[in-house]
Amino acid sequence: MNPLPSRAARHIVQNEPLLFEVSAPGKRGSQLAPLDVPIAAPPAVRGAIAGFPELSELEVIRHYTRLSTWNYGVDTGLYPLGSCTMKYNARVNELVSRLEGLGDAHPLQPEHLSRGALAIMQQLSRDLLEITGMAAITLQPAAGAQGELTGILMIRAALSARGDARRTVLIPDSAHGTNPATAAIAGYQVQNLKSNPDGTVDMSDLNRLMNGEVAALMLTNPNTLGIFEEDIHRIADLVHERGGLLYMDGANMNALVGRSRPGDFGVDVMHLNLHKTFSTPHGGGGPGSGPVAVKRELEPFLPIPVLVTRHDGGDDGRPDLDYARPHSIGRVRAFHGNFGMFTRALAYIMANGCDGLKQTTEDAVLNANYLRQKLEGDYAIAYATPSMHEVVLSDALQAPHGVHTGDIAKRLIDYGFHPYTVSFPLVVRGAMMIEPTESASRADLDDFIAAMRAIAEEARTQPELVTSAPHTTKISRLDEAAAARRPILRWRPA
Ligand SMILES: *Cc1c(COP(=O)(O)O)cnc(C)c1O
Repeated sequence: MNPLPSRAARHIVQNEPLLFEVSAPGKRGSQLAPLDVPIAAPPAVRGAIAGFPELSELEVIRHYTRLSTWNYGVDTGLYPLGSCTMKYNARVNELVSRLEGLGDAHPLQPEHLSRGALAIMQQLSRDLLEITGMAAITLQPAAGAQGELTGILMIRAALSARGDARRTVLIPDSAHGTNPATAAIAGYQVQNLKSNPDGTVDMSDLNRLMNGEVAALMLTNPNTLGIFEEDIHRIADLVHERGGLLYMDGANMNALVGRSRPGDFGVDVMHLNLHKTFSTPHGGGGPGSGPVAVKRELEPFLPIPVLVTRHDGGDDGRPDLDYARPHSIGRVRAFHGNFGMFTRALAYIMANGCDGLKQTTEDAVLNANYLRQKLEGDYAIAYATPSMHEVVLSDALQAPHGVHTGDIAKRLIDYGFHPYTVSFPLVVRGAMMIEPTESASRADLDDFIAAMRAIAEEARTQPELVTSAPHTTKISRLDEAAAARRPILRWRPA
């Protein structure tokens, strides 16, 4: 029985066999004219591989082209994966990053031949400092998580320099898993901070826990529930009064850019995810970029080399690298970070300009709230507090029918959408975290809403259709525990 009435049917592309299965002896991908000179065989590099597939060029091309269409990307449709900010990566960014001299710059190129690249890093640094309201920045870290570690190591160094080394880091229960992992790797004990019924930091819990042993509070703002921490000034004051520092996980800056600056609301250290907020591509683990911005007090601890401006004349100053930084925490990344991400992020910033960046932020917030408004009723809203750039729903209305967040996510695949983020943040039971980003058009959002409503109806009337989804993919429901614990990563002949 095909449970789907519509266009979704088994397609030849979905039934792609392995190359080993379609191989036939003697098939070749190339055809050369007969030799008219004596054969000079090159020395054998390796012996023949038993069972190596033999195919024509067209078969190979079709195979890999078909496989490539199994990927779902932001170029194929709405990608509402909450917390990940899967926005469109504009082609102009790609064009700029491939320009001669940028795309083929070598990391070992001498500094005096890299002034243009350094100038790009300098311009990007200035723009990011303007956007965040911070004082100094490093572009080295390759991802948000590495930025967190860099930031926390700087906090540790700064507190040691004050002669006030401390032992714990406070982290709200709604935080991303990388936050506690970072604090633990940096040698801190993690202390959990409760959320209040509004989904924000519980001030009395913070007041109780913020003592002389707390090095930092790691806060995401807006937090992972998509809620702005309205008490942020009071939070920052309390942490500072008691000798701690405020770290902000800036992964959610897409809700703030051009509107509000962490440097103005008391943040001491923060990271940015260029691959989220600034439209550089991400997925599959990289390459990303997680610059870390700090207030003046933490500047001496930045990783080396630090990009500085040398004024040796009446000019605006030229960018240069400073290695003589006795208090630096050291290098965190080879060379200068993922340079290709810097050109893309700068292209994004410059293409948008100030007004464009503001508009982007507003559209991202508007889109999330449009979804929230339209899905309310069919799905439970986790917190009544207004949403910023993402909205967290829950499966509370579907769970009585035996349908949970993971099932609804799988069913969305049948409707042609990438699933939202499942079961995160952990504070919400059955969480469904949806972040459409500003890239979604009204039509995209309406299609997504229609799919979500249809699934809500299915959950009421034929729940087994949802709990056994997806039905239109090559492989249906996986045993997720087995897939994680006993992954089979290699094909072996039968
Ligand atoms: C994505 C994310 C991170 C981690 O960033 P990576 O670049 O994936 O390492 C940390 N915190 C939050 C809130 C995030 O959304």
